[in-house]
Amino acid sequence: MQLSERVKWVKPSATLAVTEKAAALRRQGIEVIDLGAGEPDFDTPENIKEAARRALARGETKYTPVGGTDELKSAIVTKLARDNGLQYGKTEVMANCGGKHALFVLFQALFNEGDEVLVPAPYWVSYPDMLALAGARARIVFPQDRENFKLRPEDLEAALTPRTKAVILNSPSNPAGVAYSPQELDALLEVLGKHECWIISDDVYEKMVYGGFVLGQVLKVRPELRPRTVICNSVSKTYAMTGWRIGYTVGPAEVIKAMTTIQGQMTSNPSSVAQAAAAEALAGNQDSVPRMMEEFGKRRDFVVARLRAIPHIRCNEPQGAFYVFPNVSAYLRKSQGPKTGDELAAYLIEKVHVAVVGGTDFGYPDHIRISYANSLENLDEGLRRIASALAELGPVA
Ligand code: GLU
Repeated sequence: MQLSERVKWVKPSATLAVTEKAAALRRQGIEVIDLGAGEPDFDTPENIKEAARRALARGETKYTPVGGTDELKSAIVTKLARDNGLQYGKTEVMANCGGKHALFVLFQALFNEGDEVLVPAPYWVSYPDMLALAGARARIVFPQDRENFKLRPEDLEAALTPRTKAVILNSPSNPAGVAYSPQELDALLEVLGKHECWIISDDVYEKMVYGGFVLGQVLKVRPELRPRTVICNSVSKTYAMTGWRIGYTVGPAEVIKAMTTIQGQMTSNPSSVAQAAAAEALAGNQDSVPRMMEEFGKRRDFVVARLRAIPHIRCNEPQGAFYVFPNVSAYLRKSQGPKTGDELAAYLIEKVHVAVVGGTDFGYPDHIRISYANSLENLDEGLRRIASALAELGPVA
């Protein structure tokens, strides 16, 4: 019996693989420090859990409309007005089974065989495979600035071709925490303004910025791009709700309608109880967000300082999200030892039981991604172990 052609080229998610590897070692009784998972370590806030309990008590355990309950759509509309100054109606929003699913369904709705989609590097591991599953091709755009990974308008301009059907913007970004100010974003959007293509804004880390950074938002900066902009977002990171699997999409009614048709043949509605929780997350009390962000801010400063103290490690300063993406090329060798960031990640988990993700599937084989969605105590121990493993390995002369 044969499997499909696509399973020959689709790759397993590198981020999820690391999480699974860490969990497998834990089951063997090994004390792993998991700096791999892109998942807040906080519990889901109590008001959100309570909303789920109430939904269960009310018997909300049946199918809901495919694109989400009226309550959740209203909460999305409320959130957009409150946080983004955007006025959207319920026909222009929908709920999905996580941010990843929102993007997956969107790609199915937008792309045809052979379409090109610009993906600025370093990029989240799943974009290229999810695009390929929709028949499209990720065209990776490497910024000239290899230290801070900030895309300049000329980088974008040079990558646009007549086949470019869309551009994915992810600010703050996974894995490097690159965030664009309104001015920086405006310069990029000026280029895109001249090229008729979709603008996909993956906003899952929009609430996660540090040091008073003012984040540029596509439709705030260039409202005229609204007819060809689609925003994907999720409650997973902002409200520590990864397991609930609720994401959402905001865009022209025609796109939402097409996505709803596809979702109706795929998953039907997202979980009814999780939708009730997500509605509370988006429209209810927001106090948990600054509380979590204060912690993340301390962790970011701690991790960047500790990484920079390791000889020969070069580490950018993330403006947002909860990852750092250091350059580890000084520790990579041509033979006898780790040759890539992925092999270094394998070395770290074997040798000192610290899980990090290799950089290859993010577009940079000589980097690793470290998530600081972990306690300061674990970060301290994890970085101590990384520093000692690297010292033992020694930099390449
Ligand atoms: N997005 C998170 C990460 O990059 C969660 C895992 C995934 O879906 O990739 O680690």
